[in-house]
Amino acid sequence: MKITDHIKKANGKTLFSFEIIPPKKGNNIQELYNNIDPLMEFKPPFIDVTTSREEFVYVEKSGLLDRKLTRMRPGTLGICAAIKHKYNVDTVPHVLCGGFTKEETEYLLVDCHYLGIDNVMALRGDAMSHQKYFEPNKNGHQYAGDLVAQIQGLNSGKYLHDVIETDHKTDFCIGVAGYPEKHLEAPSLQTDLKRLKEKVAAGADYVVTQMFFDNNKYFEFVKAAREIGITVPIIPGIKPLAVKRHLQLLPQVFRIDIPENLINEVEKCSTNAAVRQVGVEFAIQQSKELLAAGVPFLHYYSMGKSDNIQAIAKELF
Ligand code: FAD
Repeated sequence: MKITDHIKKANGKTLFSFEIIPPKKGNNIQELYNNIDPLMEFKPPFIDVTTSREEFVYVEKSGLLDRKLTRMRPGTLGICAAIKHKYNVDTVPHVLCGGFTKEETEYLLVDCHYLGIDNVMALRGDAMSHQKYFEPNKNGHQYAGDLVAQIQGLNSGKYLHDVIETDHKTDFCIGVAGYPEKHLEAPSLQTDLKRLKEKVAAGADYVVTQMFFDNNKYFEFVKAAREIGITVPIIPGIKPLAVKRHLQLLPQVFRIDIPENLINEVEKCSTNAAVRQVGVEFAIQQSKELLAAGVPFLHYYSMGKSDNIQAIAKELF
């Protein structure tokens, strides 16, 4: 079922959802199931599965470092199919511009369609670690909006290179990313919002936000989006802070602010278990306020172990 239909069906009730990351290759899917199992009692209508682009890994060979380009966390679509089959829940694969050609994207979307996957999240992906700026593959997309247009093309029965004519159309519901504190490369929040509006005009049906810790940033973002005519649902993404290192890492990687009161509480902690508890308590308060504001979903970034998401969901759902 489409995410937008889940929202309609919920009739104003806030629903629970979460995102998982495929395990590193060489691991078993059972570990993933062990982390999903405890979250299923909260009845998520959908689970997002991230996609990682290829990266350079360094392997020591006869005292020298050998550089290899590889995808360390493959299997997004396989995991989506496995979870859908095992738990009878909608799964949302993340589809990236970075690392893929338009043809590869088309094949992936055809597979999604055959697997009965109704939703896809269209994202650009980040620059690779050795690149200063994002560079698309030769014959890949530069921006998420171009990828949305390709998916929307399939929804109109239009395949690449006009090689076929068909009345059979896909019907993907398309999600895109939004940034309450602006995307790190955007010159201003207002410009970033205009880009978001373009993604919606290209066919995006809903937005999931980057993590944020200050709800006012989300409320202001939604207000500003509505003011420029973005009418699709905007789902807040929430990440419970889990280790002390997040105080530096999250602002550095995602260019987001962490509120003073959360920083103070984390700094008082002498163990990461205590930090995890602070993260859970903060996320519960944050979620309660969002729930009271009537958000369509509370969408959690689980990043592996799910005990903290379970503790939060227990208080809310
Ligand atoms: P875009 O919408 O293309 O925007 C990128 C930048 O370009 C922005 O600054 C925007 O303002 C600007 N821009 C957009 N269109 C134009 C245009 N036409 N002309 C000029 N400038 C433009 N990354 C992964 O690798 N895998 C994942 O699974 C993944 N999942 C994510 C899930 C969510 C909910 C979020 C919020 C992010 C996720 N990301 C993921 C990270 C994402 O790929 C990065 O944030 C990336 O840098 C931007 O992706 P985007 O889709 O927002 O890009």
